[in-house]
Amino acid sequence: MTTKIRILPENLCNQIAAGEVVERPASVVKELIENSLDANATEIRIDVESGGRKLIRVTDDGDGMGKDDVFLCLERHATSKISMEADLFSLNTLGFRGEALPSIAAVSRLTVRSRTAATLEGWEVYVEGGTVCRAGAAGLPVGTSIEVRDLFFNTPARRKFLRKEETELGHIAELVTRLALAAPEVQFKLTHNQRPIIETPRHKRLEERIAALLGRPLLTQLAAVDSGGGEGGLELRGFVSRPELTRSSTGGIYTYINGRHIRDRVVLHAVLEGVRHLVPKGRYPAAILFMTIPPDQVDVNVHPTKHEVRFSRQAVVHDFIVTAIRDSLRAGVATETVSTRQSLPFSGEVAGSFERSAASGEQYPDEIREAVAGYAQREPVLEQRRIAFNATDTAASGYGSEASALPTPQLGLFAGLTIIGQFNNSYIVAEDREGLILIDQHAAHERIGFERLLKEFRSGEVARQALLFPQIIEFDFKEAAYVAERLSVLSRLGYMLEPFGGRSYALQAVPVLLKNRTDHLSLLRDLAAELAERGVSTRLEAACENLLVTMSCHAMVRANQALSRPEITALLRDLDQIDFNASCPHGRPVYVRLTTTEIARLFRRSA
Ligand code: ADP
Ligand code: MG
Repeated sequence: MTTKIRILPENLCNQIAAGEVVERPASVVKELIENSLDANATEIRIDVESGGRKLIRVTDDGDGMGKDDVFLCLERHATSKISMEADLFSLNTLGFRGEALPSIAAVSRLTVRSRTAATLEGWEVYVEGGTVCRAGAAGLPVGTSIEVRDLFFNTPARRKFLRKEETELGHIAELVTRLALAAPEVQFKLTHNQRPIIETPRHKRLEERIAALLGRPLLTQLAAVDSGGGEGGLELRGFVSRPELTRSSTGGIYTYINGRHIRDRVVLHAVLEGVRHLVPKGRYPAAILFMTIPPDQVDVNVHPTKHEVRFSRQAVVHDFIVTAIRDSLRAGVATETVSTRQSLPFSGEVAGSFERSAASGEQYPDEIREAVAGYAQREPVLEQRRIAFNATDTAASGYGSEASALPTPQLGLFAGLTIIGQFNNSYIVAEDREGLILIDQHAAHERIGFERLLKEFRSGEVARQALLFPQIIEFDFKEAAYVAERLSVLSRLGYMLEPFGGRSYALQAVPVLLKNRTDHLSLLRDLAAELAERGVSTRLEAACENLLVTMSCHAMVRANQALSRPEITALLRDLDQIDFNASCPHGRPVYVRLTTTEIARLFRRSA
C-alpha cells in the first residue's frame, strides 16, 4: 500500500516557516537586528534599497561566527541560544527558535559574511532560494553582515503583497525605532537608497534616545514611570505622556517585556486603563514602557514573531501596570525639561538631508515664532471664505435612521427653539411645544465643523489660509514617510506642507476652519497615523472623509465653555443646516429630547 502522508522537503518547510516569520521587508530587518543585538553588537548599520525589496543589509560589530557556524546558522532549528527545554523559561536573548535565517534564505538571495575575533579571516556564504551556491574564506572585519537581496523573488504571490516603497520604508523605520529604543547603548544607522534615515550615536540614557528617535519636544510632555519591587519581582520603568499630549491611535505606545518589544492585549489594556480618566475617549497616550518580569512567569513562545506573550499571572501584571501609570501621572514626576530649541532641524541631529533649507539657517528664533503665533491667532491673514449652504442638500425627510433613533428634525427646528440656558457649560437646554431638548454643544460644534469641511472637500478642496510665517514641524520617521507620500492629499484637506529636510516640513497654510488652533502638529500627526493605519489601498475619498472627522474634532470648542445667548443662537442656526440622516462623525448623538409625557412619567404623573 502506498502512503498518502509524506515528510515535506526541508526547503519547502523553510518556505512555509517564512510565511510566518517574514511578512514584509520590515520583518527581515527585525530578525537581523535582533540577531545582531544577541551577538553583543555596539554598532548596527541597516542599508535598505527600494523599500527593502531590492536590498536589506544589516552589518554589526558583534561576536561574529566561525566557519562552521556560518553554515549551521542557515539550517532549520539551528541556534546557539538555547539547548534544552528549561532554557525557554530563562531566556535572555531575543532569538531562540533558530528559524529566522533559514526562512529568510528560502525566499531571497542571501549572503552571510562573518568573522570572530579568534580567526584572521572570515567566511562568506551565498544562498539562493535556500540552496547554498558559493562559499569561501574572505578578508572581513570582526562581526557579521547579512545581505538579503530580491526578497520573495521565488514566491511571486508574496511579492505581490509588498506595498509602495515609502510604505515599506515606514514599517522598517518604525521597527528600527522600536528596537533602538530598547538598546540606547547601541549605535544605529539606517539608510534608504544611500540616504540617511535614522542615525543615533551611543546613548547613556533612555531620555536621550527618545529625543533622538521621537523628537525632543515629546520629552517635555512625558512623565517618568518608575515602579520597582512589585509583587513577584515585577518592575515597570519608562515614560508615559501627560494628559495634555494625546494621539488618535495607539501607535505612540511602545511596550517591552524583558527588553523585547511586544504588542500585547493585556499590557495595552492596562496602559489605557492607567490613563482612563485623564485622556478623552478615542484618544490615546504616548508611552515607552519597559517591564521586567521573572522569565518563568512569561511565555514568549506563543507566536513565531514573538509579539504576543502569555503571562502566568495575567491579573497581577495588569493591575501592576495600571497602578504604576496612575502613580506616575499623579506624582507628575517631571522629566528634565529640555529646550525645544534643540529640536529644530538645524541642530544637525539628523544628518545630511536639508537640501533646500540648510542655507536659510536659523531664520525663526523661538521668540519670533511665538510672537507670530500669537499674532496669527488674533489677526486672520486672509479673509475667511464664507461657506454657503445649499438648503436642498439638507432637505428634511420625515424620519431619522434607525441607528440614531431620533426623528430627523424639520428644517428650522433648532432655530425655532426657545433657549432656556446652558447647563454645566456643556449642554444647551431648550424647549419647544413637545418638550425639553438637551444639546451637547461639543458634539454639535464637531458636527457642524465636519459638515463644512465635507462640503468644501467635495466641492474641490478645503479652504486654506496661508500662514504669514511658516511653522516648522518635525515628524517621527514613520509619520514622515506617510506625509511624504500624501502631500497632495493633505493639501486638498487644507494643509500645505513643504519638505524642509529630513523629517521636517514647513507648514505653509492651514484650513480656514482651523486657523485659530495652535496645535497643528498634533493634528497632522493624527492624520499621518490614520494614513498609516489605512494604508494606501483604501479609496481616497473614503479615507479623506475619515480624516475630516479627525479634523473637525480638533477644530471645535471643547465642552466646558460658557456660551453667550448670541453664540447659542448662532449654533442652533448652524445646526439647522445639518443633514441628520448622514452618519454622525463619532456616532454620538448631538441632541436628546425629553417629551412632556416622558417628563411627567419621571414624576409619576399621568399627563
Ligand atoms: P535564533 O536567533 O533564533 O537563534 P536565527 O536563525 O536568527 O535563529 O540565527 C541562527 C543562529 O545564527 C543564531 O543562534 C546565532 O548563533 C547565529 N547568528 C545569526 N546572526 C548572527 C549575528 N549577526 N552575529 C552572530 N551570530 C549570528
Ligand atoms: Mg534570530
